[in-house]
Amino acid sequence: MPETLFKIDLTKPMADQELPGHNRWHPDIPAVVSVKPGDVFRIECKDWTDGQISNNDDPSDIENVDLNIVHVLSGPIRVEGAQPGDILVVDLLDIGALRGDEWGFTGIFSRENGGGFLTDHFPQAAKACWDLEGIYTSSRHIPGVRFAGITHPGLIGCAPSMELLQTWNKRERALVAKGGPPWKPEIPDLAKLPEPNQAVLGTLSGSEFDRVAAEAARTVPPREHGGNCDIKNLSKGSKIYFPVYVDGANLSMGDIHFSQGDGEITFCGAIEMSGYIDLHVDIIKGGVEKYNMVNPIFKPGPVEPQYSEYLIFEGISVDEFSGEQYYLDPHVSYRRACLNAINYLKTFGFTGEQAYLLLSCAPVEGRISGIVDIPNACCTLALPTAIFDKNILPT
Ligand code: ZN
Repeated sequence: MPETLFKIDLTKPMADQELPGHNRWHPDIPAVVSVKPGDVFRIECKDWTDGQISNNDDPSDIENVDLNIVHVLSGPIRVEGAQPGDILVVDLLDIGALRGDEWGFTGIFSRENGGGFLTDHFPQAAKACWDLEGIYTSSRHIPGVRFAGITHPGLIGCAPSMELLQTWNKRERALVAKGGPPWKPEIPDLAKLPEPNQAVLGTLSGSEFDRVAAEAARTVPPREHGGNCDIKNLSKGSKIYFPVYVDGANLSMGDIHFSQGDGEITFCGAIEMSGYIDLHVDIIKGGVEKYNMVNPIFKPGPVEPQYSEYLIFEGISVDEFSGEQYYLDPHVSYRRACLNAINYLKTFGFTGEQAYLLLSCAPVEGRISGIVDIPNACCTLALPTAIFDKNILPT
């Protein structure tokens, strides 16, 4: 077992850990540990909400979750010799649960606090807790399913430069000022702008804390540095190539998912857990320009659950309420594919909430199948049939 460089005490919030992590992005959050290229080490992570959710049958913790606290991240980790323009090569050697904390949760946020992809159909908070049994999981809240996890960090990336941070803040402010997308002009939060309330900024204090808290980017969206990409295939054995923007790279990570479906549709949508990640790091000097990199690239690992049989649901870009035709809009199409799957699963005894939670966290494959056949984009959602304890094909 590699040396643990960042330890978590599950009884304490992130701000009170021996090495405090952070929940915002800013180049001036100081690194808390330092490693060399070639090093192998272990990093422990809290769940993304900093322990706000409990393993019980009451969804009120999901309903009342404080989203200013998310996502609590472990790091930053300084990699000696890494400079802007280099590629930081990160191998995810292993990922697992912390001893004594082998459980996870999937939530539906209420429409008033967080929402999710299908919030118009499922406006109430709900929760499913999952028991982790080695590589398998099952939930007392969704009987009749059991599957192998595809465990990954939902969030991992290097610190932005000041210039990149300012670019993020400028363009996200402009979006908020512009107003909602055509399919939902009334959406209140188009992006999460810097928010000092509940900011955790590692070892910063005093006026430096206040300055950084006012500028630091929220961790919600994926950006050029990676960040909250929520890619289920970034699993054990993956090799990720990150652009470096600051001296030392300042790598951070968290939001470990035992399993997730493509799209993470409920938003609190994977099987969220605390855990450890074993890493190996290296540097490719000058790699960003050499390989025309804008965003990270990665090579998935060789150990993923094997599901070979699927039932696939199609969706097209036509609004389910108004019947309005949208032009090649995969957002609408994927929503329709998900709704088709949920309504189908209801005929097998699942509630709508159970089916929604399941599509969000089970290893379902989402695809943009067609994006040129005007006016409909076609998205598909592939449900592995072997996760169910009964036949779910039409007979
Ligand atoms: Zn997550």
